[in-house]
Formats: sequence, C-alpha cells, structure tokens
Amino acid sequence: MDIIIKDGLIIDGTGRNGYYADLLIENHKIEAIGQDLTAENYKVIDASNKVVAPGFIDMHCHADLTILKVNTAEAYLMQGVTTMVVSICGIGLAPANEKVRKYYADFITKLFGSEELTLYDTLQHYFSRIEEAGISPNLVFFIPHGNVRACVLGIEERPPTETELEEMKQIVSDGMDVGAFGLSTGLIYPPGSLSTTEEIIELCKVVQGYGGIYNSHMRNEDTGVVAKGMGELVKIVRQTGIQAQISHWKAGGRFAWKLTPQMISTIQLARDRGLNIYADMYPYQEAASSLSGVLLRPWVYKNFEKHLSNPGTRQKIMDETMEMIYSSFLQDAPQYIKILPKYLIRELIFWFIRKKL
Ligand SMILES: [Zn+2]
Repeated sequence: MDIIIKDGLIIDGTGRNGYYADLLIENHKIEAIGQDLTAENYKVIDASNKVVAPGFIDMHCHADLTILKVNTAEAYLMQGVTTMVVSICGIGLAPANEKVRKYYADFITKLFGSEELTLYDTLQHYFSRIEEAGISPNLVFFIPHGNVRACVLGIEERPPTETELEEMKQIVSDGMDVGAFGLSTGLIYPPGSLSTTEEIIELCKVVQGYGGIYNSHMRNEDTGVVAKGMGELVKIVRQTGIQAQISHWKAGGRFAWKLTPQMISTIQLARDRGLNIYADMYPYQEAASSLSGVLLRPWVYKNFEKHLSNPGTRQKIMDETMEMIYSSFLQDAPQYIKILPKYLIRELIFWFIRKKL
C-alpha cells in the first residue's frame, strides 16, 4: 500500500530551509513531494507539528559488537538513526585469527567488561552472517586496525618487519575489496598504541588507493591533542592524500580546554592547504572510555587475574598507572599542582576516587 505523509515540516538534509509539504511513498520509494498529494489506495500518516527528515547517520558507533543480538536496533531507529558508522576506534569483530581471538579474550572483554565475543575470520564472513540474520539499520564498516595488527603481531610492542607490513597491507586490501569504507585506528588502546605513524601511513596508502577514509581515535585527546593527536593525523593525511575523520573530537580534561581554538584552527589550516579532514563530536559534554584500557599497559592483560592478585606486580601496575596519569592528564597542570610531591598527588587521586565511588 502507498503512504502519504501529510503536513510535515520537511527538512531534507541538503541545507535548504524547511518547508511544509506532503510526501508520497510508492513501492518503498519517495515518488513525490508537494501540496495536497493523493494516490489510488493509500495510508495517511499525519505529520502536522512534526519534522519529516531522511534517516540520521550516527558517525560513531560500536553497534557492530552487538548488532546480531539486537538486530532490529529499535533504540536507534526510534531516534531517527538509520545508518551507523561502525567497527571504529580500531576495534571490531573481524578480521580475526587465533592471535586476535586471544587478544580479545585477554584484553577487549576485560576492557569493556563484556561477555565473550564471537569473532569472524574475515569481514566478508561477518557481513554474510549479518545478512543472514537480517538487521534494520545500514552499517558503514571500517577495517579495525587493532585487528589487522593483532592478526600479524599479536600484542607485541615493536614495529612490523617488511614482510609483516605486507601481510597487514594485504588484510586491509581484502577488507576494502569486500566493501569496507576505510581503516579505523584506536591509537590509545593496545595494540594500536604500539604502532608507529609510519605503519599507519603505509596502511592508509592502501586505503587511499581505493578512495577510502581514515577514521581515527587519535593518539592523544587531552593536553597533547594538537601537538601529538592532530599533529600525527595531519601528517598521515599530508603524506597519503587520504580523507580523514577524527573520531569523537575533544579536548579531554580541564587543562586541555584552552586548546579548543587551536584545534579548530588546525583543521581550518589543513583544509586551506587542500587536506580533507573532518571531525565528529559527542552531542553531550562528557566522554567515555575504559580507564583500564587507557591506563594499564598491555602486559597486564597477558595474565590479568594473576597480575592483579600478586602484590609485586600489583605495585608495579599502580606505579605505571600513576606515571600514565601524570603524563596524560597532569603534564600541563598549573605549576602549583605540579610542584606537589608525587605521593601527595597520588593520595589526592585515590581520595578523590574513593569519594566518587
Ligand atoms: Zn574511540
């Protein structure tokens, strides 16, 4: 049966002003937009006092991890989201081999506190599984760099050899062949955090060959957001000509807020020079990640329970965590905080955490 959506305020996404009109849908397609539309045999949806718009795109979403369990994704559809960009921050369910499965069991499930995840050998395998199950939204898939690296190197802290890099390029190329939109990185999470800029550049060259996109959770999003995070991204774009998307762009932490104008001008400047850089943001003020993912070194996950229950390694973990807090969050703190002895800062942080909990 045809449908006429009547008297809605149409905002069509092209940037033009909204206007009131009816919209006729025949065979699942918009056939006409105009005043007082009629058809043979149709159902009317009264949209007066409502907006009629095309489906929204959620530019940053991890729904690929759970879509098979909630394949109708009503929570998204009811908010008007019909397309989700997934498999980002370097994390995803495919591609995977034994090394990746171990990395997920050791690291990702603990990082997100999730139950055991089913991984797929290739993106194509996962796509087939999704098609078989049938899902409501459109998914725009990226190739997660964490998986690509772990497929070849596990979570070894070293650059790939030439042969290993070739293997990684091949995995990226395979992903692009089956319809991925590009490569995603999560450069604060292992194993992304263990990669060099050169490695990412080489993989982005492959993606650029397909006209794909580089989608990055950058290496730094706090006081080093401009110098380290965006600096690296701009370098990658400059050297490869790839289009880049900065994931959940932010100045994380009070000491980084003053950098916001510089963040904006960095993108402006890059665009003025012809570089194709975009960014997406949360529609709210807070940010979220797993503290353990950001603060704990990869070795901790190799034997998580044992390391946490051994007093010696536990002390080492606490010392390293404090170092990470200093270098990530307190580097640009005002002088009166930085002159405090470290043990006092440590006590203050633990006091604060206890108070919050
Ligand atoms: Zn992220």
